[in-house]
Amino acid sequence: MSETEVTHSAPDPMQAFRQEVRAFVAHALPPSVREKVRLGLELTKDEVMHWQRQLQARGWFAPHWPVAWQGTGWSPAQRAVFQEELVLAHAPESGGITVEMIGPILIRYGSPAQQQYFLPRILNLEHWWCQGYSEPNAGSDLASLKTRAVRKTRPDGSEVYVVNGSKIWTSYAQYADWIFCLVRTDTQARAQQGISFLLIDMRSPGVSVRPLVGIHGWHLFNQVFLDDVEVPVDHRVGEENAGWSIAKSLLEYERLNLARVAENRRRLSKVRALGLELEEAGVPLLRRPWFARRYRELEVRVEVLAATVLRFRRQAQAGMPLGAETGMLKLLGSVLIQDIENLAVDALGPDTLAYDRAAHFEPAAPDAGRSAYAPAASARRFVTRGYTIAGGSSEIQHELLAKQVLGL
Ligand SMILES: Cc1cc2nc3c(=O)[nH]c(=O)nc-3n(C[C@H](O)[C@H](O)[C@H](O)COP(=O)(O)OP(=O)(O)OC[C@H]3O[C@@H](n4cnc5c(N)ncnc54)[C@H](O)[C@@H]3O)c2cc1C
Repeated sequence: MSETEVTHSAPDPMQAFRQEVRAFVAHALPPSVREKVRLGLELTKDEVMHWQRQLQARGWFAPHWPVAWQGTGWSPAQRAVFQEELVLAHAPESGGITVEMIGPILIRYGSPAQQQYFLPRILNLEHWWCQGYSEPNAGSDLASLKTRAVRKTRPDGSEVYVVNGSKIWTSYAQYADWIFCLVRTDTQARAQQGISFLLIDMRSPGVSVRPLVGIHGWHLFNQVFLDDVEVPVDHRVGEENAGWSIAKSLLEYERLNLARVAENRRRLSKVRALGLELEEAGVPLLRRPWFARRYRELEVRVEVLAATVLRFRRQAQAGMPLGAETGMLKLLGSVLIQDIENLAVDALGPDTLAYDRAAHFEPAAPDAGRSAYAPAASARRFVTRGYTIAGGSSEIQHELLAKQVLGL
């Protein structure tokens, strides 16, 4: 090749896409919110809503929905890049149960009238949804749920269900406008076969919300009471008594995201920052053997998880079924995130013990005398403990893997 010849490699479209997402986040995410997410502080509803409006204005609030419902038509790889860029840039979680769960359910199983009414309201941020599955005596064994829905004809001839019971651990019910619930419509049928899927307006008479504040001081959970709540029959999704298969199909969505690879990476980078910032015997923690050993091991585990997810993703892209093996991703990802948060707390030591609720909302002054990560570290650690339970506990995941994958 002569000196004047130049080789042109084709531009990598995925890299260009990554840059586009990165530029958007850099422009749209308020620095104060980015800082709060970086430090693990708690966001207000207004802060979350502001970020959701930015995404919505860019057409990226529900990117994985069908194009007919304002989806982007991105490939799975683009979706993964998008998610990764948001997490690594310390953007707040957005959409949650509303975009990931009830939206896809309505797209798949909702009547045309339900779709026309609810989906635009989700997309314009009018409706925040919560999930009413668990009950005080029905968690892992969800099919034993007892909230009862009985049909009744009103004097004007309209048909309603009268719902009685209670739902528990309902995340962010205090913010929600609607709740989707599993209710028992047939007490004689086998457990799974007598369940229906109802959409309930949180402003209906008879709905009340009791806060359940966690050991970490955060108001995430609630108990929702349903006392003689009248729900139009039109607000049932799918056939009567067919709610179980609809609820189960939710699990198919975003299974690969349950590994939380980007989230694990982001939190590990926090631990690295701590390893450089904090010293023991005049030496940065990252050079102290006890810390370095645990940090390096976590690094390896994050990379192993990332490689495993990539393998499944390639399998999915090639049109191959994923199978029950994907259950391991949630198991590994949730334990890993806890081990990362545990190392953060161990590094920060007694500074994490002081409990100051106000310090969960605003970054501490730079001269506060302790690391800016300290105020929320214990709360983060306790919140992540819940990840081994949410979405199917570790014990249940082990059991499924043993039976369905290992054939034990
Ligand atoms: C962060 C978080 C958010 C949540 N958000 C929501 C929400 O928005 N909406 C909602 O409906 N629910 C929500 N939940 C509730 C969640 O779905 C339940 O906690 C979960 O299903 C477990 O039920 P449980 O709490 O009743 O525990 P149980 O089912 O009573 O389990 C208690 C313990 O026993 C073990 N166990 C139970 N059965 C078996 C078995 N057969 N074999 C071996 N071990 C077993 C479990 O692994 C667990 O360790 C949330 C939970 C968490 C942690």
